[in-house]
Amino acid sequence: QVEDDHEFDVVVVGGGPGGSTVSTLVAMQGYRVLLLEKEEFPRYQIGESLLPSTVHGICRLLGVSEELEKAAFMPKRGGTFRWGSSPEPWTFSFSVSATFSGPTSLAYQVERMKFDQILLDNARDKGVEVREKSSVVDVIEEDGRVCGVLYSDVDGVRHEVRSRFVVDASGNKSRIQSRIGGTRHYSDFFQNIALFGYFEGGKRLPAPNSGNILCAAFNSGWFWYIPLTDELTSVGAVLRREALERVQGDREKALMGLIEECPLIAEYLSEARRVESGPYGEVRVRKDYSYCQDTFWRPGMVLVGDAACFIDPVFSSGVHLATYSGLLAARSINSSLSGDFEEKKCFEEYEARYRNEYSLFHDFLVAFYDMHQDEDSYFWTAKKVMNSSAPGLESFVELVGGGASHEGGLVNAASYTEQRESTFREFSELVDRPAGESGTDRDLFDSMLVQSVLEEGAKIQVHAALGEAVDDEGPMREGGLVPSADGMRWADFGY
Ligand code: FAD
Repeated sequence: QVEDDHEFDVVVVGGGPGGSTVSTLVAMQGYRVLLLEKEEFPRYQIGESLLPSTVHGICRLLGVSEELEKAAFMPKRGGTFRWGSSPEPWTFSFSVSATFSGPTSLAYQVERMKFDQILLDNARDKGVEVREKSSVVDVIEEDGRVCGVLYSDVDGVRHEVRSRFVVDASGNKSRIQSRIGGTRHYSDFFQNIALFGYFEGGKRLPAPNSGNILCAAFNSGWFWYIPLTDELTSVGAVLRREALERVQGDREKALMGLIEECPLIAEYLSEARRVESGPYGEVRVRKDYSYCQDTFWRPGMVLVGDAACFIDPVFSSGVHLATYSGLLAARSINSSLSGDFEEKKCFEEYEARYRNEYSLFHDFLVAFYDMHQDEDSYFWTAKKVMNSSAPGLESFVELVGGGASHEGGLVNAASYTEQRESTFREFSELVDRPAGESGTDRDLFDSMLVQSVLEEGAKIQVHAALGEAVDDEGPMREGGLVPSADGMRWADFGY
């Protein structure tokens, strides 16, 4: 039996950060939005270390800054890494970037059960109709256009709901992303496995960095160590694919064994005990999480957040990409619904900008992962990632120059490639410089490549603070659109 629901302008599938962001920003423009979430919140999710652009940019646009402050999440000034050829940990703070100075240089470490609940409650407050325990099973299609979804409620009753747009923000296990058409491409390079659990009583870095994420490389991969509260720490090992059999037996034993292999983490946990009950009591495994869909939209449907792509946990890009893509998708939906621009033009802008942000992180993370390798393996890996017949160094330059995805048409190809190559040159010089020559962090976080990754987030922050778009350098690509003055729609440049 299928029951007919009322019509909506937009149906959003999934109530994680991506789904909450897009639904709120569309509802704030007065459109009718239905959000369907298969779980009942609060629900567990990994992805606890946030970036300043999410906290001070998107969250401010959503109007949840006060709720976040009230929640008193652990302040995160930056990151501390035992990584690369330097034997001592080095630290960066977000405030090294001029735009992230002052209070906006602080991000948070969050318990996702609390953070996601705040965003979902805010969506409700802003007019989104939220139905939990409602699992979307398929999309409805007519004349090549997606025009609604089929979902099951908690009693197993099937509902059909029609809408002008469907947003798939249902995360990495999305069942309906395949209805977008195209293929989900799993990365040849990031084939890692994560094994993670929670501890009480772990040590903290000395102030003022006690809220930093600590990442420590060791023989089998690297550990994250994220202080969630003064007591609670999220600890995870990210392992290379070859280590698969290590996580297939007793997970707790495997995690404790890996901790023993990493002296820094073993020392930080020397007086801690693992949490063994409640939502943090399980030792969890995640794999097959690095992929990118080759199409992000089709008429009537768009993928947001992990439903479209995810790279890797290092540098905490996941919630940033989910919420940033939520903002971009909201602009595209709002502009299409208002009739400002054709759907195609809006969603091409969506895809171009989301891919660009994804690529910046992807390229950077590829290079970053190889900092502890020798040069040959550094270049060989790039060659493998690109499946290229060119020599290793050239392959690497092409990869981090933005050529790997062959998405040149989505950007101003010539200047984009030129800029990416020059940032790569600067980056590789820093990487090649002997350790200690330029201070403990080797100026890495002053490099243009890293700054350009942070730049888009910085723009969103300034926009949220001033209420004005700061994209005055023009469209990202020829013929492209720019954010409207209020940031909620697209506009022609110089309108
Ligand atoms: P999700 O948060 O996955 O939300 C999707 C929602 O959709 C869920 O609530 C789900 O229940 C619902 N849903 C699913 N199917 C259906 C359906 N059929 N019908 C209705 N609802 C449905 N990111 C960071 O920013 N920082 C980190 O430190 C970090 N660490 C990570 C560590 C690991 C090991 C991994 C794998 C990822 C990490 N991430 C991190 C990434 C982060 O988890 C994700 O990028 C982020 O949660 C994506 O948000 P989302 O809204 O797209 O999806």
